[in-house]
Amino acid sequence: YTAKRTDREYSIFSTDLDTHTIEQLSLLSDLRDTLVHDKLILYYQPQMDMKTKKVVGVEVLSRWIHPLQGYIPPDIFIPMAEQNGLMKKLTLWVLEKALHQSKKWCEEGLNLHISVNLSASDLQDFHLPDNVQRILYKYNIDPKTLTLEITESLIMSDPVRAMETLKHLSSMGIKLSIDDFGTGYSSLAYLKNLSVDEIKVDKSFVMDMTEDKNNEIIVRTIINLAHNLGLRVVAEGIEQKGVWNKLVDLECDIAQGYFLCAPASAESFYNWYIERELF
Ligand code: C2E
Ligand code: MG
Ligand code: MG
Ligand code: MG
Repeated sequence: YTAKRTDREYSIFSTDLDTHTIEQLSLLSDLRDTLVHDKLILYYQPQMDMKTKKVVGVEVLSRWIHPLQGYIPPDIFIPMAEQNGLMKKLTLWVLEKALHQSKKWCEEGLNLHISVNLSASDLQDFHLPDNVQRILYKYNIDPKTLTLEITESLIMSDPVRAMETLKHLSSMGIKLSIDDFGTGYSSLAYLKNLSVDEIKVDKSFVMDMTEDKNNEIIVRTIINLAHNLGLRVVAEGIEQKGVWNKLVDLECDIAQGYFLCAPASAESFYNWYIERELF
């Protein structure tokens, strides 16, 4: 395992574990241990403004390298943390590390927006806004430069309580983004009631949109919807130049995907950024 590898090179961890097998219980205890000992790793994936061609921010993605099993994808360990009461701790850990990193980059002249993913239990946690506030204050970071990504299903699981937490976060100046847009069951009403700033078109529509006419129509429609509501649109999962060009035509605001850069360690991202932006 090296930081230079792309996500695609990792082996896929088996997903067919039954709940409560010995393996899973031991993995859970390993995850707990990993959190306690500060052993998760944060990767950063650049987001580029499609008009100015400037890198404007990064999405923070958690990585877990298990000492015996190797790479375990977040699609395995995030739900595991969520179902076992570890999510609150994980989210605060991620925010703490990511905003610390952001401050260090700031001191080196890199002014980047930071996007962090939230999970269902985060929105049920009334202490989240105060905790976020405390970390922002600790690293002297402008709340406007922090985006919190939530999914439609997160809101829909307990809309009233979720709305309350989101309103509080938004009143602090933090930006809110709807991740994986188009894949969840949801009402479009929350888009106008909620102080959402950004929509991320799910990668399943973006990846093959130059080959699949229906996906192109869906992406086009989401971009128009967002713009009509005064929201910014991010396309995730851009893997090919053709898709990139198509999204420029459709006036998509922000681009994210392997075509630009895969998620990378702080150091690899920094080197990539310096080479790209300064030379
Ligand atoms: P997401 O938030 O939708 O993140 C985007 C995912 O797409 C990431 O997968 C990223 O590596 C992948 N990706 C980026 N560009 C491309 C591309 O061009 N093609 C393809 N096929 N994929 C691309 P990753 O890192 O495996 O994370 C999966 C999910 O796990 C994330 O989806 C997010 O929901 C969750 N996750 C990851 N880190 C965290 C975290 O720290 N906290 C929480 N709550 N969730 C996290
Ligand atoms: Mg995300
Ligand atoms: Mg997404
Ligand atoms: Mg996703």
